[in-house]
Amino acid sequence: MAYTYIADCHSHSDCSFDGSESMASMCARAEALGLSYYAITDHCECDQYDGSPQFGGRKYYDVVRRAYRELEENQARFPKLRLLKGIELGQPLQNLPAALDALDGRRYDFVIGSLHNIASMPDFYHLGNEAFDADTLDRIFHAYFKEIYDMLEWGVFDSLAHITYPLRYLCKPGERPSFSKYQAELDDIFRKLIVDGKALEFNTSRLLKTDAPVLPDREIFARYRELGGTRVTLGADAHCTENVAKGIPEALDLLRALGYTEYTVFIDRKPIQIPILWQ
Ligand SMILES: [Zn+2]
Ligand SMILES: [Zn+2]
Repeated sequence: MAYTYIADCHSHSDCSFDGSESMASMCARAEALGLSYYAITDHCECDQYDGSPQFGGRKYYDVVRRAYRELEENQARFPKLRLLKGIELGQPLQNLPAALDALDGRRYDFVIGSLHNIASMPDFYHLGNEAFDADTLDRIFHAYFKEIYDMLEWGVFDSLAHITYPLRYLCKPGERPSFSKYQAELDDIFRKLIVDGKALEFNTSRLLKTDAPVLPDREIFARYRELGGTRVTLGADAHCTENVAKGIPEALDLLRALGYTEYTVFIDRKPIQIPILWQ
């Protein structure tokens, strides 16, 4: 990797239901890659905190505790790796007491705010199989942006994850995914992030995929910068060792081309700007 400082601040171990490898294996891979910072951010789907039959009874109450314990163990086990203790809080507003309980008494470096499903609907991942008419789709997108804005008003997280998540699954075949119809809502979200000092995540999990729609990362980060955004966190969203830091150099290429000179890492919940330096 030709960049002086590479950070990957979004990653899942097998503490997450969709992660396949141990935290120690993920850390070993990050260390071998020579990452400057590496955050493991296992899922806490707040709407599934107490376990519900609908989701196979997964109890994020237990997941959060196990993941945090493993983060501390692996910090001790990999002293040379700058391992950051992270968490991906999904749908915090759908179970606010759960979100607060997940954070209570644990010293995270970095909290990601995510919205994988809008209230009372399944994960966007599952909505991809449904045939929605244009009006219904439009209502879903408005509800998505509204819930994200409400999350920002709540504000107890550091970076907004994968804003294009619904576009992965809801765009029509052959259509180029775009949020251009929702520019006003997007601008409100960007302005709020900027005023509140939060970051926007560049999620690279789809960046190098050739069999998936090309997401509008360029448009999004160009507009965010135009409005004054400078805080961008980077996350490959790896669920196995092979994908750790995948796409991060390419994201840095794109950010550099758009005029960004720095990206952001959160340590102890405080933003640090890292220069985008080419070796
Ligand atoms: Zn996510
Ligand atoms: Zn994730």
